[in-house]
Amino acid sequence: MLKKTCKCGKLINYNEKCCSDCAVQKKEQTAYYDRYKRDKESYSFYRSKAWLDIRAVVMGRYNGLCLYSLFIDGQIVPADVVHHITEYSKDKSKALDIDNLIPLSNGVHSMLHGNYTEDAKRMLLGLLDRWKKEMN
Ligand SMILES: [Zn+2]
Ligand SMILES: [Zn+2]
Repeated sequence: MLKKTCKCGKLINYNEKCCSDCAVQKKEQTAYYDRYKRDKESYSFYRSKAWLDIRAVVMGRYNGLCLYSLFIDGQIVPADVVHHITEYSKDKSKALDIDNLIPLSNGVHSMLHGNYTEDAKRMLLGLLDRWKKEMN
């Protein structure tokens, strides 16, 4: 097999772009950059006026209560965060959709994010429905 040198100086097969070490390094750099770009984007989103406005509307709509604590635990607990049921990173078109937003306490919020399944999303949507049906 014909050989050539990788940019790091290692000898590699002619049909390869770079050696395996460089390939791993490049992949890590790309992953890091993607993450950095995503973080920057969500950082500015969560500081935008549009978000702060809708966040205030959601808090007002549900009296600032954690709906999970209310319906699942039967407890009155003030909400700390407004959570995107379909995550912001997954679908930006739902970022400001009031039917995709739910107020939660910090404890419930991190518990949910620890194992965020499709079932968990359905359960949260069900809590919004219960509020509509039972609290109006
Ligand atoms: Zn290399
Ligand atoms: Zn969340």
